[in-house]
Amino acid sequence: MVQMCPTHDTTTVIRNGVAVVTCEHCGMVAFRNRDSFGGVAALFADYRLVGRVEAIGAPGGEVMAFRPARPSDRSAMDAIPPHRWFRADEHLWVCQDGSVLLLAHRFPQVSRMLGA
Ligand SMILES: [Zn+2]
Repeated sequence: MVQMCPTHDTTTVIRNGVAVVTCEHCGMVAFRNRDSFGGVAALFADYRLVGRVEAIGAPGGEVMAFRPARPSDRSAMDAIPPHRWFRADEHLWVCQDGSVLLLAHRFPQVSRMLGA
């Protein structure tokens, strides 16, 4: 089951048919009725991998950078508050600045799971 924040008020936003739940206190993001990878994959289905960077200052081992295929797809990013890392689970973090989506992860297989 998805672990929602049990302590704080959370914010739920629906994008691309995905209910995205964030807690700004804990820096966590979860997806109703989906696991973390399924939620990220569905929410950002139209995003394209634009590069990989070393995870300097980031929580994971590798950071993948994505951009929306169309400007209108930026609304998917807006489901997550900008300019900080949100933890989807112990292996996956998400950060966005309004134009680029960053996914940080610990394991190479995550790249394949995300279709990158
Ligand atoms: Zn919380």
